[in-house]
Amino acid sequence: MTTQIVHLNGKFMPIEDARVPVLDRGFIFGDGVYEVIPAYAREPFALDGHLERLEASMAGIGLSNPHTRAQWAKLVGEVIAKNEPQDQAVYLQVTRGVAPRDHAFPEGVAPTVFIMSGPLKPVPAEQVENGVPAIALADNRWLRCNLKTTSLLANVLLRQAAVEAGAAECVLFRDGFLTEGSASNIFAVRAGKVLAPPKSNLILPGITYDVVLELAREGGIPVEVRPVPEAEARSADELWLSSSSKEVLAITTLDGKAVGNGRPGPIFQKVHALFQARKPRARAPAQVVGA
Ligand code: PMP
Repeated sequence: MTTQIVHLNGKFMPIEDARVPVLDRGFIFGDGVYEVIPAYAREPFALDGHLERLEASMAGIGLSNPHTRAQWAKLVGEVIAKNEPQDQAVYLQVTRGVAPRDHAFPEGVAPTVFIMSGPLKPVPAEQVENGVPAIALADNRWLRCNLKTTSLLANVLLRQAAVEAGAAECVLFRDGFLTEGSASNIFAVRAGKVLAPPKSNLILPGITYDVVLELAREGGIPVEVRPVPEAEARSADELWLSSSSKEVLAITTLDGKAVGNGRPGPIFQKVHALFQARKPRARAPAQVVGA
């Protein structure tokens, strides 16, 4: 096993040596934001979108951004370069720093910046082939789901409920409309059209969500970004989930009932193929002419 190198507050070190004081507000309050950025063939995927969302998350919780966009991009590149795998998942977290416990923001405290990267696990071929089971649950999270905060307790409990029901993800509904999953965005397909809940305070603006909709449009598939009533989602021909780690996957059962015919549908297959073609690949070694 090669050593995993992380970045903590301006320094690179083996993960075993990275320490954060117990009074860090990330630990005490979950007072921080994060990103997960996939890198294929050591190239971060949709980096600008991730950094833009990071900036929006920091602004959304009143956390002063310690770095410029270029500095963030450099740090992400350095962490990727210092770690072994070709395909990596970069985890980046910024908290409101270390201060005596008090809910109100501390003054003059530097944020804690932590970046680690591990192998990006390939999505199992079996899940691409057969899709995954999901359960429907009431979305009981707060009303600022557009911010990617480290306070993930509601998402943790929702995902655990899915796991205990033998499902891979939950499909969340609020006030009669589809929102998203515990850690993914959700799409429905009806009558050949992709239906996507619009970005609002009720869902995370997924970077993969943007890629999926862009690929669908490029592929000539009609897309409707509009509120999706629960009944439409429950009787959809296809349901999909998307995230940086799962890419795009078909949900083939919801609460144990088949979605469509219970197999990944034709529109999923088209978008999945377009997604695979979009991912950066390791470059073939240069050919030596005449050798
Ligand atoms: N919604 C939630 C609640 C998530 O946690 C995630 C994954 N971070 C997503 C959607 C998908 O976002 P992305 O495509 O940027 O990974």
